[in-house]
Amino acid sequence: MTLLREARAPFELRALLGSDVWRGRGVLRGDGSPVLLVPGLMAGDETLRLMAAWLKRIGYVPVRAGMRSNVRCSEESASRLESRLERAVQAAGRRGLIVGHSRGGMLGRVLAVRRPDLVGGVITLGTPHGAEMHDLHPVLQRQIDVLKAMGDARLGTLSSRCTIGAPGQASPAFVGEGCCERFWSDMRAALPGEVRGASIFSETDGVVNWEACLADGFHPIEVASSHCGMAMHPEVYVKVAGELASAVRGDRARRRNDRARSSVRAVTPVRVPTPLVSPRVPVAAGARP
Ligand SMILES: [Zn+2]
Repeated sequence: MTLLREARAPFELRALLGSDVWRGRGVLRGDGSPVLLVPGLMAGDETLRLMAAWLKRIGYVPVRAGMRSNVRCSEESASRLESRLERAVQAAGRRGLIVGHSRGGMLGRVLAVRRPDLVGGVITLGTPHGAEMHDLHPVLQRQIDVLKAMGDARLGTLSSRCTIGAPGQASPAFVGEGCCERFWSDMRAALPGEVRGASIFSETDGVVNWEACLADGFHPIEVASSHCGMAMHPEVYVKVAGELASAVRGDRARRRNDRARSSVRAVTPVRVPTPLVSPRVPVAAGARP
């Protein structure tokens, strides 16, 4: 991992703005489903503004995470996002989708595990699923340390308490009551069968070890992108459009099957259950079989 690879991001942005995919040409269109966009660590909604504008152009309803900077306690953030997504799903009348960049993908995954009734698909971009600190660039590790120190000083960011239960924290330096154990446990849980998962990763990611982006239940999709540039890379956008469309198709098929099953139930007469064993014929005392 080298941060020099992240110097590609401005070029990736320029390529996106000059591409057909940015104009919505040649990509699979959406069906009005809400798409919650969750930014990465220390990033805000602003970093996914382009993706939000593009999603709207291709037929989805983008939903902002409401984050100026994604730095707060994971459990608290997940709970806020859940309420936000719930409102969007109620308004749309159909399940939503989630695109999460880096840490945003971890929050998206946990929401999908907790609320498959709200989430039809989750796409993570350069997300370190279950990664330990050594899977992150040392600069990012230091930034997390600073955030923890700020949180410990009650300045509103994630704190040492949040690391209890995190991967690689079998003997945490901080001893005390944790606040994110449920979050970490849900990060390890399998994705529910009715949720489509995809993990977009890059072997040349300059911030996160790409191998940490591979996760059970998440279809791996490789792109040639920087970490920061994943939110503005034409190849990523093409893959995101494809995955969202597949999740929507899967959801539609599931609803159709549910309707078919309920109509079959409605017309099927009630059957008297067949006994599993033959009724016993009473045998007279002393009689031989
Ligand atoms: Zn926490």
